[in-house]
Amino acid sequence: HAKAAGRNMACWFEPDMEQRVAVRAALEADLRHALNQGQFELYYQPQCDMQGRMTGVEALVRWNHPQRGLVPPVEFIPVTEETGLIVPLGRWVLETACTLLAQWAGAPRTAGLRVAVNVSAQQFQRPDFVEQVLAVLAATGAPPQRLMLELTESLLLTDVEGTVGKMARLRDAGVGCALDDFGTGYSSLAYLHRLPLAELKIDRSFIWDADNERHGGAIVHTIAGLGKAMCLDVMAEGVETERQRAFIAAAGCHGYQGYLYCRPMPMPQLAEWMSKHQAPLS
Ligand code: C2E
Ligand code: MG
Ligand code: MG
Ligand code: MG
Repeated sequence: HAKAAGRNMACWFEPDMEQRVAVRAALEADLRHALNQGQFELYYQPQCDMQGRMTGVEALVRWNHPQRGLVPPVEFIPVTEETGLIVPLGRWVLETACTLLAQWAGAPRTAGLRVAVNVSAQQFQRPDFVEQVLAVLAATGAPPQRLMLELTESLLLTDVEGTVGKMARLRDAGVGCALDDFGTGYSSLAYLHRLPLAELKIDRSFIWDADNERHGGAIVHTIAGLGKAMCLDVMAEGVETERQRAFIAAAGCHGYQGYLYCRPMPMPQLAEWMSKHQAPLS
C-alpha cells in the first residue's frame, strides 16, 4: 500500500536524488491535473474576538486527492511555490474566498464577517498582484474592507520598497494585510514600522508555549505590546485550551482562532456550525 501511494505522491522514506526528482515531477504533474480537475477545496476556520463572538474566517486550502484523500497544505504548497503553480492556485483561492465574502456581505446576519486569505511571497511579488486582487474584488462584488491578506515575513527578504508600495495600494483600496506566523521569520523588526499593516498574527508555536514555559508567554506579551504601540490588531492562532485563551486575553490580544473555538471546516459544516452558533458580529 505504501508503495502504491509512493508511486503517485511523496515518499515517506529518504529517496536518492534520482528518485527525488522523479517524485517531484510526478507531484508537479499531479498538482497541474488537480487544478484542472477542481480537486482543491477551501476549508474555513472561524476567528473570534475575546468575547467569543465570530468575527470572520481564515480560508485554508486542502487537496482532495482521489487516492490519498484530504492532503494538507504543508504537503503541496511548497511544490506549488517552486513550480509557479501557486499563482493559478492562489488566484482560485482568492476568487473562491471573495465569492463567499460577497455572499456574506449580502445578508444582514453575516455582513460584518471578514475572510482572511493566505498569500505566498511568490504570488505577492508578481508585478500585477495588486491589480489581480482588485480585479477579483470587482468581479465578485466582495467588499474590500472585509478582505484580509495574510503575508509572511519572507516577503521582507527582498524588495522591502516594493512590498511597502503594494501594501499601501491595497490599504488605500480598503484591503487589510496581516503579518502571519509573526515572530518565526526573519528580522522584520527593522521594517515593521514602515509596513502599512492592519494586523499581527502570533504564530501558534508561541501560543502553545505560553502555558507551558515562560518564554512563549514573554513573546506573546511582547508581540501584543508591539501591536498596541503600533495600533495594529493582534490575533493569536492555534489556541487549543482555556488556559491559553485566558493567557492571550490577559496579554491584550484582540482575537484568536484555534481548536478551542472551532476547527477548520468545509463550507456545509461551517454553515451548520454558524447556524447553531450565536449571531455573529455585523
Ligand atoms: P497558517 O496560515 O499559519 O494557518 C494556520 C494553521 O494552523 C492551519 O493549518 C490551521 O489548520 C492550523 N490550526 C488552527 N488552529 C489550530 C489549533 O488550535 N491547533 C493546531 N495544532 N493547529 C491549528 P493548515 O490548514 O494545515 O495550513 C498550514 C499552512 O499552509 C498555513 O499556515 C498557511 O501558511 C499555508 N496555507 C494554507 N492555505 C493556503 C493558501 O490558500 N495559500 C497559501 N499560500 N498558503 C496556504
Ligand atoms: Mg494564515
Ligand atoms: Mg498563521
Ligand atoms: Mg502558522
